[in-house]
Amino acid sequence: MKINNLIMILGDQLDRHSSALDDFDARCDQIFMAEVREESAHSLDAGGTSATTSWSHKTRTALFFSAMRHFAAELEAKNLPVRYLRLGEHAYIGLAQALDAALAEFKPARLICVKPGDYRVRALLMASCARAQVEYCERLDRHFICSDAEFQDWSRGRKEFRLEHFYRHLRKQHGMLMDGAKPSGGEWNYDKENRGSFAASGPGSLVKPLAFAPDAITQSVLEMVQHEFAEHPGSLAHFDWPVTPEQAEAALQEFIALRLCAFGEYQDAMWMNEPYLYHSRISAALNMKLLDPRKVCQQVEASYRAGRVSIAAAEGFIRQVLGWREFVRGLYWMHMPAYLEDNALAALEPLPALYWNANTSMRCLQQTVQQTLDFGYAHHIQRLMVTGLFALLLGVDPKQLHAWYLSVYVDAVEWAELPNTIGMSQYADNGLMASKPYCASGKYIERMSNYCSNCSYRPELAVDSTVGAQRACPFTTLYWDFLQRHQQKFSKHPRAALQWRSLTRLSAEKIEAIQLQAQTLRTALRAGQKI
Ligand code: FAD
Ligand code: SF4
Repeated sequence: MKINNLIMILGDQLDRHSSALDDFDARCDQIFMAEVREESAHSLDAGGTSATTSWSHKTRTALFFSAMRHFAAELEAKNLPVRYLRLGEHAYIGLAQALDAALAEFKPARLICVKPGDYRVRALLMASCARAQVEYCERLDRHFICSDAEFQDWSRGRKEFRLEHFYRHLRKQHGMLMDGAKPSGGEWNYDKENRGSFAASGPGSLVKPLAFAPDAITQSVLEMVQHEFAEHPGSLAHFDWPVTPEQAEAALQEFIALRLCAFGEYQDAMWMNEPYLYHSRISAALNMKLLDPRKVCQQVEASYRAGRVSIAAAEGFIRQVLGWREFVRGLYWMHMPAYLEDNALAALEPLPALYWNANTSMRCLQQTVQQTLDFGYAHHIQRLMVTGLFALLLGVDPKQLHAWYLSVYVDAVEWAELPNTIGMSQYADNGLMASKPYCASGKYIERMSNYCSNCSYRPELAVDSTVGAQRACPFTTLYWDFLQRHQQKFSKHPRAALQWRSLTRLSAEKIEAIQLQAQTLRTALRAGQKI
């Protein structure tokens, strides 16, 4: 069989308006999609250790496969030729083998795809084409608001890459939340109004996010994933994610109507047994391209213009989608593949087992990891200021942490996850993404949640004054230890020096006691003991 073009559609490219399908000719072109095992368990190292293997959460795998099957069914319903390889019905372990076989069978003149969201996958497609001597034809990904060329133009000649500068540029360039040349509401950024926490009575009654009961396609995927990926982390018991553009749109509408109003104020807040609070839960739908980020921002802006939500809520949300989401993608492509190896703080600790089983007395970590295993979800502050912060303070190898984040969240795709982990959360890129490390003690978590009042540790204590008391909060111990360990690097740092100056308040004896306690924590965690 000989065709003109083989169109490769990956699991995170389920865009109805994909440029890969421009000029598609059903008489001589063929669409190709494949479910392969290796994408749910791939190594991030040439060496391939299990610590740096991404073991996809069952919910993540099921979500991608279900959305892919729905997308393929829609193409088939339009009588487009689709070769769809279902897991369990073919023998290919990885994408490379599956594609090699398709190129050999169809003998296309070229392989057409939009730019993959993962450097590794892109290299893999190119290598397959080179082996088969087929032209690799990569088309622009129209999903993103900021094109590769626009990011390159913006970044050219800059010494520093800061979200705020990029975000303002995009607001002006794309006329979002603008009144003429001025930002709507008069300010560019309402971040100060986005840091609210709840009173002791908590958030009160919350609207449960729209849940999507699995249809027949999703149900068969759930059964297959349960069988084929039984050893993978996480549970499928609560699967309720949107898997089609219509469902994703319904989830967005529900969020805008019922939760956006409080999103701005409480976006950094955390509360026991409340995984979603006022968050949108649309990241996976966006990353699979079931939703268009422009339309998301426009609808949020429309809600503000109609007087239904405040400027702080609308701006706080648009900053995430237009700002952070586009920014991390630009940084990813600018700094790969070196990004993967960054380790500016020389962090070498293994990732503690508690990240995979939530077996810890630290309430904040127990809650965040348990909900991650249950739902494949944690919101941004839980990722940044609980799991991310603890790894930063402990000094976990960034690549091991990267493998974990890439495994456990339904929205995990490397272009989004890696800069957030290596850059924002671990400062392993030496400040490429964040102007200073996001480091804090347990007092921050106490301020933003009710975790500490449900914990046996005390956030204000860095050391136990009584032997065997075990009341000192591990975050607080490790925070002071972190300041001490990185004093040389940050004590003259323009943005961080003030925070590091607080070390001068501690006596030499106190520092010694903290170091000893930090060492005890590390030894226990390395040995897999519960803390
Ligand atoms: P909301 O809180 O409702 O925010 C709205 C939208 O803004 C999100 O859906 C998302 O598309 C976008 N957004 C917000 N913050 C960011 C950000 N920092 N980077 C990129 N987009 C953002 N997001 C992913 O999409 N995939 C990832 O793999 C991922 N890994 C992360 C790893 C770490 C260590 C950290 C700190 C953050 C990570 N994020 C990732 C960003 C963010 O945590 C999630 O986008 C968000 O929690 C998703 O939940 P939501 O849809 O309810 O978001
Ligand atoms: Fe987490 Fe420390 Fe608070 Fe416990 S006391 S919940 S360990 S920050």
